[in-house]
Amino acid sequence: MVELATSEQALRSAVGQAKRRGQRVGLVPTMGALHAGHLSLIEAAREQCPFVVVSIFVNPTQFGPHEDFDRYPRQLEDDCRQLESLANLVFAPTADVMYPPGFSTSVDPPCVATRWEGECRPGHFRGVATVVLKLFSLVAPHIAYFGEKDYQQLQVIRHMVTDLNLPVEIVGCPLIRDPDGIAMSSRNRQLDEDQRRRARSLSQALFAAQRAVDSGERNVAKVVQRMTEIMQAAPVERIDYVAVVDPETLEPCEEIDRPLQALVAAHVGTTRLIDNLRIHPPV
Ligand code: AMP
Repeated sequence: MVELATSEQALRSAVGQAKRRGQRVGLVPTMGALHAGHLSLIEAAREQCPFVVVSIFVNPTQFGPHEDFDRYPRQLEDDCRQLESLANLVFAPTADVMYPPGFSTSVDPPCVATRWEGECRPGHFRGVATVVLKLFSLVAPHIAYFGEKDYQQLQVIRHMVTDLNLPVEIVGCPLIRDPDGIAMSSRNRQLDEDQRRRARSLSQALFAAQRAVDSGERNVAKVVQRMTEIMQAAPVERIDYVAVVDPETLEPCEEIDRPLQALVAAHVGTTRLIDNLRIHPPV
């Protein structure tokens, strides 16, 4: 089994030893229920860092009161088995390590957190930024790896690191899809067969957006309308947003005259899913 640390002391001692050996430390923060998307981040870390820490923590503060914190999949033993020979250390802190009694400090997330996920999930990015900053100060990694699956989250982390002069390099890794196009996610386990079929409409909408642009469409409103129709036809239970935005600021755009990021979020059954794709105008 891969070494497992659940306390701050065990973590600091294992990471300290690696650093004294002169090893570069890579951190891959996750909420567990690992899939090939997570493993791609770990692979990227292994290529650059001789000592790879995977954190597994279902962070309560990034879930809203009516969200799926209680039913979020948890399978630490399975995860550790998967990480055997892939990671050097699993850090799975107990809740009181991350949130000791009397805890009350948090990170006010950057502007890029305001729209989209920030609007639909009030407090979400405050929880994310806070827990990631805590993981950075606990592990003190040289490099930390985040997936483009959570595109806005990656931008939030990048801005936080710049704004707060954090001594860590952030590496963004490509979104990994299942063969049917669905973005891999731990939440996909919550989908039954029919929901999974309907969940495909998120990626289908994104691919349709690129096809529309390929055939000459430049108007964002029209592309968004087409995407929305595809998801409504599935149907999904509720669309939270469909947007085509500037890849850095995440501000909405009107014209597809350069590479832009298409973002979607929708509920399928009681599961909330997100996906995104970089849209390129023809050269
Ligand atoms: P999570 O466990 O969902 O919090 O995700 C942990 C990390 O894995 C985050 O940086 C995610 O963006 C990344 N991740 C999750 N799913 C995927 C995927 N399908 N492709 C690439 N990265 C992913």
